[in-house]
Amino acid sequence: MSESKPTAHADQDRIERQSREEFSRSSAASEYRSHFNRLYPRWYVYNDVHFDGRLTSPRISIGLTSPRRLSQTDLTTDYGARTNIVLAERMVFGTDRRLVLTDDPTAEGLLRLIDDRLLGETVKQFVMEVHGSLEEGWDGYGPLYAREATRIGATMGLPEVHPRRRGPRLTGMPVAAAWPHAFRPEGYYLGHVSFDRVHLRGKAGRSVPRQSVVPGVYEYLYFLTATGQHARLLDILGREVDAAKEARHPALAAAERNPLDPSGMVLPLPVIDRDWLAWNCGCVRAIAEGIRTRRAFDGMPILADALQDAGCEDEVLLGHLRAHTDHTANCWALRLLTDPT
Ligand SMILES: [Zn+2]
Repeated sequence: MSESKPTAHADQDRIERQSREEFSRSSAASEYRSHFNRLYPRWYVYNDVHFDGRLTSPRISIGLTSPRRLSQTDLTTDYGARTNIVLAERMVFGTDRRLVLTDDPTAEGLLRLIDDRLLGETVKQFVMEVHGSLEEGWDGYGPLYAREATRIGATMGLPEVHPRRRGPRLTGMPVAAAWPHAFRPEGYYLGHVSFDRVHLRGKAGRSVPRQSVVPGVYEYLYFLTATGQHARLLDILGREVDAAKEARHPALAAAERNPLDPSGMVLPLPVIDRDWLAWNCGCVRAIAEGIRTRRAFDGMPILADALQDAGCEDEVLLGHLRAHTDHTANCWALRLLTDPT
């Protein structure tokens, strides 16, 4: 995709986010669906009431979290969302019997806890998106998080929140990572949950690897297939293919981003002559688009021949198309020829 079209990009991201949300709310397994139908509307309310609607709708999922966390927020580029809010399935489905004391999955106290974790992660999302900070030195819940939590908590009658600190100061106080649930008054969760036997704070640090928090991906791909959204399906799978290739071959990723000289220095992008693209009914561009959308990179030498016949003598460009290397849809040469603006 071209960087020169941020609006088209933003639109596509929004469409993907909506599609993902629609999938979660209508087609996920039923025990998930009822939660998503509560959680997404609730997230929109939090965003409007507490953040003036400034946040971009996240992907909300129910899955694995780090052992000491009931929820977490990760940066993601999946499905147009920038952030992925994960709620621990052991909390949501009540399988952690030390934490959840009721058998009723719709018990009011349990739902209150789930909502509180969504609110806490929405604050975290705000810090990530609006402040652009991961607050890494604070395990992700530092002064920025504490400030927002304090501001919102004040509207709900909750006490001031302090970021985690090393040393004895504020020892025994709940830490920001446990906001709001640890700040709620006694009895707020109606005895349906208990924190006495779970260890939710302490050295919990790193979040679990991303691979382990993507339950539902196959369901989503199935949903796209079953609803005939093949273009979007191909687009998602194609990007996965590119990402996997680039992860396996970092040198390929670099060579596809920009033209490089033999020593690896970045060269300026060749200037595309409009006459090349107009030549012979626009066949250069048509071939380039065909290769790019189908990822049919074995056609690159044919593209080079057509380009040369159209009058191009740029050795950097022709050399890249004829090089015996793999390519991705991010290929700078294909980008230039399909979107020369
Ligand atoms: Zn390439």
